[in-house]
Amino acid sequence: MRLAQRIVRSKASPTTAFIPLLRQLRQAGTDVLNLAIGEPEFATPASVVTATAQALQDGFTRYDAAGGVTALRQRLAADFEGLGAENIVVTNGAKQALFSIFQTICDPGDEVILPVPCWVSFTAQVRLAGAEAVSVACRGDHQLDMAAIARAISPRTRAIVVNSPNNPTGAVYPRQTFADLASLARENDFYLVADEAYRDFVYPPHKAFDPWRLADIRDRLIVVRSFSKTAAMTGFRVGYVAAAGDLARALERLQSHLCGNVCTFAQYGALAAAGEAPWLKTWLAKLDERRRYAYAQATALFDCVPPQGAFYLFPDVRRRLAKGQSSHDFAMELLRQTGVAMVPGEAFGTPGHVRICYAVSAETLAEAFARLRKHL
Ligand code: GLU
Repeated sequence: MRLAQRIVRSKASPTTAFIPLLRQLRQAGTDVLNLAIGEPEFATPASVVTATAQALQDGFTRYDAAGGVTALRQRLAADFEGLGAENIVVTNGAKQALFSIFQTICDPGDEVILPVPCWVSFTAQVRLAGAEAVSVACRGDHQLDMAAIARAISPRTRAIVVNSPNNPTGAVYPRQTFADLASLARENDFYLVADEAYRDFVYPPHKAFDPWRLADIRDRLIVVRSFSKTAAMTGFRVGYVAAAGDLARALERLQSHLCGNVCTFAQYGALAAAGEAPWLKTWLAKLDERRRYAYAQATALFDCVPPQGAFYLFPDVRRRLAKGQSSHDFAMELLRQTGVAMVPGEAFGTPGHVRICYAVSAETLAEAFARLRKHL
């Protein structure tokens, strides 16, 4: 039977594809070290698990408002000066938040600017909304190329997606970058979509800038956040959008037909994770150690820019490629021959690179680099 063209033309997420692939390899006896999927190795904090179990016991197992449980929306809105609970929409992870945003702001033929490398689902999600993804390469240091972004703007531009700290590069953008983007967005009448999934993962001396502080951009700023990384809740699937004006209501309207509310008791787990997150201090210290170690190891093998946030390295592997070999082939060869799984740069719109997730145990990281060194 025939399928819709938009699905025929889209490929499955190359990051989530690793989950069944690695399971299969393990079942077949390969000793796999997973530096592919971006998921912190930490256990979900006990307070979150207890609150979720309690919510189940208390009977929060039924439908709720499509936009989310009121107590959670109120708590989340408190972080955004000028917004109320009605400006928050709780979504199935940041992934659904972004999907719904493109569905809500794009008409066919509209354009969304994506600085690349960028997270694997942006391009597919923009296209599934009938819009065009306009890729703009970042600078060699992984910061945004503002002149190139300005050149990419057209009358059809509806939004630019800014992801800081960045997946896959680990770059963190300074205040000036957001201020410049805000000016471009205002002058050319488009949205700034800020994907802040990694906002809590920034290593000293770097600091994440919160674009909500730029008061004059709030009417066109759409913020996306998630509990997946911040509270090791990847399986809960709880993220959210914060936006001024009518946008949250429009998103909620879409959600009322799409999935209704996010799992009710998972939202109560998220409520326990909102605000103070005492576990983050220890996690960040551990991740910073892994970041330094992984960066030192990676620079000995590849060309690598030091990451400032998130939990990825995105080295340029071109000097390691055999003649005619792509970074995809290279990553697959390493997986087959060493068991070390990494995501090829093609997935992020930037061939010639691989993404290494260092949010794994120190032992896994050491073993992975030992295998890579031996093989290379
Ligand atoms: N965001 C994570 C990653 O990039 C999780 C997988 C996904 O949803 O793409 O690996």
